[in-house]
Amino acid sequence: MNRTAFVTALGGSAAGLAMFYGRAWSAPSGAYAVTHSDAEWQRLLGADRYAILREGGTEPANSSPLIGENRPGTYRCAGCALALFSSKTKYDSGDGWPSFWDVLPNAIRKKADYELIEARTEVHCRQCGGHLGHVFDDGPSPTYLRYCIDGLALRFVPLG
Ligand code: FE
Repeated sequence: MNRTAFVTALGGSAAGLAMFYGRAWSAPSGAYAVTHSDAEWQRLLGADRYAILREGGTEPANSSPLIGENRPGTYRCAGCALALFSSKTKYDSGDGWPSFWDVLPNAIRKKADYELIEARTEVHCRQCGGHLGHVFDDGPSPTYLRYCIDGLALRFVPLG
């Protein structure tokens, strides 16, 4: 069910929610080194990855095979191949999504996200603007951050 259908399904309370959802995620504005038209992004990414990276969607919890990926390597942006996360900072958060306690240098941008009642910090790719997930401050030492990332936004490249 997409967002519009979800809101519609709520019937009477839809008006208020529609206003609320009006502030939902939108593709980050600004200059990105990698850009494509919407049609090109859809063709390049396929429907599932497009829904995450270009529409700010969230994959179902515990759906990503990358949650159990423990080999050494690099997690790259599925939109533009920029290296985003190292396996060295991956950990099992138990939250249902691939999780990291740090990000590679100059890989992401952040912005406040009010899609849910509580403000969250959204993270997106520095190079293509693709939505990746969110960062929370309940991670492990040494950063105490938890980058909660959609596996569909990533491509894992094993070392060697
Ligand atoms: Fe990217």
